[in-house]
Amino acid sequence: MKNKIAKRKAVPRRELCAACGACEAVCKRKAIKIWKGSYSVVDESLCVGCGLCARECPASIIKIEERL
Ligand code: SF4
Ligand code: SF4
Repeated sequence: MKNKIAKRKAVPRRELCAACGACEAVCKRKAIKIWKGSYSVVDESLCVGCGLCARECPASIIKIEERL
């Protein structure tokens, strides 16, 4: 499903990601995944910027940003 109304999105700093999977586990829209066991990536077409992943990330490396 396309996401056309969200004003925000999650932006992880992948160079600091521990690939723990906490963000993936909490995202109800399946918008954030661990890429090949290495780091988190966000599907911006699915992310609604709810911030759940950012709250769960033990390393605090996910920011919720305004979409441009
Ligand atoms: S902000 Fe919400 S919708 Fe977007 S990746 Fe994080 S938990 Fe999923
Ligand atoms: S919760 Fe944070 S450290 Fe863990 S996989 Fe997600 S972005 Fe990486």
